[in-house]
Amino acid sequence: MSPAPKKVLALAGGVGGAKLALGLARVLPPERLTVVVNTGDDDTFHGLHVCPDLDTVMYTLAGLADPERGWGIAGDTFWTLEALGRYGAPTWFKLGDLDLATHIRRTELLRQEWALSQITQELCRRLGVKQRVAPMTDQPVRTVVVTEEREMAFQEYFVRRGSQPRIRGVRFEGAPQAAPSPQFREALAGAEAVVFCPSNPVVSIGPILAVGGVRKAIATFRGPRLAVSPIVGGQALRGPAARMLAELGEEASCVGVARRYAGLCDVMVIDETDRHQAQRIRELGMDVAVANTVMRTDEDKEALARLVCELAGL
Ligand code: GDP
Ligand code: CA
Repeated sequence: MSPAPKKVLALAGGVGGAKLALGLARVLPPERLTVVVNTGDDDTFHGLHVCPDLDTVMYTLAGLADPERGWGIAGDTFWTLEALGRYGAPTWFKLGDLDLATHIRRTELLRQEWALSQITQELCRRLGVKQRVAPMTDQPVRTVVVTEEREMAFQEYFVRRGSQPRIRGVRFEGAPQAAPSPQFREALAGAEAVVFCPSNPVVSIGPILAVGGVRKAIATFRGPRLAVSPIVGGQALRGPAARMLAELGEEASCVGVARRYAGLCDVMVIDETDRHQAQRIRELGMDVAVANTVMRTDEDKEALARLVCELAGL
C-alpha cells in the first residue's frame, strides 16, 4: 500500500497569500492542499456579507482573479456600484458586478443557516476549485484597528482611509471565543506541514493565530512549519504591512516578521535582498532559506512553492 499523501496546510490573507497558494496549487495534487484564510477583514456592504480574503484566494485558484489589482474578478464592471451611488449608498468599497453575485449567494446561504465553511466549499466547487479553501473559523471575527483618531473596522482603515491613520494596536474581536473551522481543525490534526504564506503578519496571519486554540496547535505541531516573508528589503510589496509593524514599534523587516513567528515556525524563507539578515533570524531559533520571493509570474509562484515543498521534505 502506498503511504498516505502528505498534506499541506497553508495560512493566507488575500493578495500575497493567494499568490503562494496558487504556486502550491500548481505543485501539489489538489487533495493535498488546504488553504485556511483570514476572515477578520469580513464586513457587510449593502446588506451583503463580503469576505475579501476568502474571495481573493477563491478567485485566484479558480483562475478568475484580476491579475493587475490582485482582488476581484478579471474584466469585471462596476455598474451596480455606480447605480447604488445614485441612491446615496457609500461606494468606497469597490464591488464589481460579477463579484456581487458571490456576495449575494453567500448572504443568501448564510440566511439559510449554512456555515461559512460550507458556503465556501460550495462556491469553490461551483467555480471548479479543487483544493480545499476554508475560512479560519465559522464564527464572526472582526479586526479592529486602533488608530490615533479612533478605532475603526479593518476595511475602513485599509480601503476608505488608505491606511493613512497611524495605528496604536489591532484587536481581533471574537477570535478567542471562536473555534477553528472543521477543515482547519482537520488540517491542524492531519497535515504534514504548515506554510505561512507571505501575508500581512499583523492583520492577515494575526487573526488566524488569534482563533481559539490555533496558536497552541501550531506551537505544538509535529511537522515542519515554514514561512515566506511578506516584507522584502524592509518594505511591503503592497499594502500597509511594513508601516503597521513600524507603527506598532516592531522592526519593519523580515526579522520583524520572524520575531512574530518565533516558536511557531521552523524555517523562514527570505528574499535575496535580505540575505544579510539571515543570521539575525537564525538567532531567533529558525532556519533560513534565501530565494527570490517576489512573485511576478505564475512561474515565480510555482518555483517558490516548489522550494517551500522541498524545504518541508514533501
Ligand atoms: P491582503 O489581505 O490582500 O492585504 O493580502 P495578504 O495579507 O495576503 O498579503 C499582503 C502582503 O503580501 C504584503 O505584505 C505584501 O508585501 C506581500 N506580498 C505581495 N506580493 C508578494 C510577493 O510576490 N512576494 C512576497 N514575498 N510577498 C508579497
Ligand atoms: Ca486582507
